[in-house]
Amino acid sequence: MIDAAIVGSGPNGLSAAVTLARAGLKVRVYEKESTIGGGARSSELTLPGFLHDVCSAIHPMALASPFFQEFELHKRIRLAVPEISFAHPLDGGRAGFAYRDLDRTARNLGRDGKEYKRLMEPLVQHLDGITDFTQHQLLRLPKDLVATVLYGLRTLEQGSPLWNLRFREDLAPALISGANAHSVGTMPGLSTGGAGMLLIAHAHGRGWPVPIGCSQAIADAMAADLLAHGGEIVLNTTIESLDEARGGTGARAVLLDVSAAGLAQIAGSDLPTNYLQKLGTFRYGNAASKVDFALSEPVPWANPELGMSPTVHLGGTRAAVARAEAEVAAGKHPTDPYVLASQPSPFDPGRSPEGKHILWTYTHVPAGSTKDMTETITAQVERFAPGFRDVILASSSITAQEYSQYNPNYVGGDFSAGEVSLRQLFKRPVVSPNPWRTPAKGVYLCSSSTPPGPAVHGLCGWYAARSALKDIFHLPSPALGV
Ligand SMILES: Cc1cc2nc3c(=O)[nH]c(=O)nc-3n(C[C@H](O)[C@H](O)[C@H](O)COP(=O)(O)OP(=O)(O)OC[C@H]3O[C@@H](n4cnc5c(N)ncnc54)[C@H](O)[C@@H]3O)c2cc1C
Repeated sequence: MIDAAIVGSGPNGLSAAVTLARAGLKVRVYEKESTIGGGARSSELTLPGFLHDVCSAIHPMALASPFFQEFELHKRIRLAVPEISFAHPLDGGRAGFAYRDLDRTARNLGRDGKEYKRLMEPLVQHLDGITDFTQHQLLRLPKDLVATVLYGLRTLEQGSPLWNLRFREDLAPALISGANAHSVGTMPGLSTGGAGMLLIAHAHGRGWPVPIGCSQAIADAMAADLLAHGGEIVLNTTIESLDEARGGTGARAVLLDVSAAGLAQIAGSDLPTNYLQKLGTFRYGNAASKVDFALSEPVPWANPELGMSPTVHLGGTRAAVARAEAEVAAGKHPTDPYVLASQPSPFDPGRSPEGKHILWTYTHVPAGSTKDMTETITAQVERFAPGFRDVILASSSITAQEYSQYNPNYVGGDFSAGEVSLRQLFKRPVVSPNPWRTPAKGVYLCSSSTPPGPAVHGLCGWYAARSALKDIFHLPSPALGV
């Protein structure tokens, strides 16, 4: 017999499973793939000995997520925290660097340094309050009202046509826009502006850590804790109904690490029509198309300091990045795209054979795109790193359409499992004081289709599991530390 079944072993399925198992329940996780991890899987995608992250690679939340803090992730895996969190090159070898040190960052931003510091310093000072506000659902009273107001005002500024008002040069706006564009959407816009302010505040706060042993190490740490507390993981099993999830075990709770559309498919017959109608109006956004490279040498950046930045945002000026994102929103593939690049091997040499390196890149494309973006991405890297083509040993690409087949949560290749828009910051997947709980007794949605949305933070699963513990098992939230 089991008490709770979890469908999906992504970061949120595993955080839910760990929480329930730690409360003393018998937990079973079902995963359709042959390995665990969802968006935190890693694999030899190009050549033997080159370990690539299949989805997520950049982990601003590894130290900042309240779940990972409670779980003490930093004690379970090694997290390298580089001096530079991210960087943004412009043509001609110039580049902006978001060092963890805010003053150093500002000193390198020319005439705009002072204003950049004025923009970011209050957010860094109120980082915990901002994390509390943004990393939960928004329909609740924030713990730190001052932090919320400071964050709200800056989001309004950087998410509106006023976004250039305080700047006189091009480097600081480009640096900010590269972070804004992590969230697929038009720029300036409130959701992209808010994402950027949060990500940059973390860059200057706890930093953007690189997990030693790839993203997979994060999933493996949660799975190890689950197994240590009596949990089970069943691989190669696609769940299509609640009956299958319960599997005659008498499980009183089923937590679904699937998209809102997946919830309707699996639990539809137990859900009321009006709730299903609401799920039907949940929107999916545009998509990612990714290319991984195995390299004979580090990327030959025109500005050598870029080699010390684990994350590099490519696309040029703020106007160019905004134009590329507008083209995606209009259903086009940009020729001069925004590219997110992660180069973890200098910080985690075990990911590639000695002296060799890996580069992880993706760009935004229209939902459902079948276009292989290898050439477009290669050209964009080459622009800022002349000679890049000469160091490529092999590459591997995955289109948006292929992502949606790989993981049904990525509807049309939308890796956020639901558009990140102002509307869906509140309606995720429905407007409710407890969006993780569904009207079907004992059935919870625990994926990034719920607040606080996408990224590897485990929070959607943690909140869903805590709701199930309270509603169904009348148990308190357990301690999760080592
Ligand atoms: C290209 C790309 C780049 C990304 N980059 C980053 C990044 O750098 N940093 C970051 O923080 N985030 C990043 N993300 C987003 C991040 O990976 C996701 O937000 C996160 O993984 C969501 O976790 P989850 O547990 O909700 O779902 P997922 O990680 O999607 O896991 C869901 C799991 O459920 C399984 N599953 C689904 N349906 C069923 C079923 N019916 N039966 C059984 N199993 C099922 C799936 O196989 C999968 O393993 C990226 C995603 C992609 C695709």
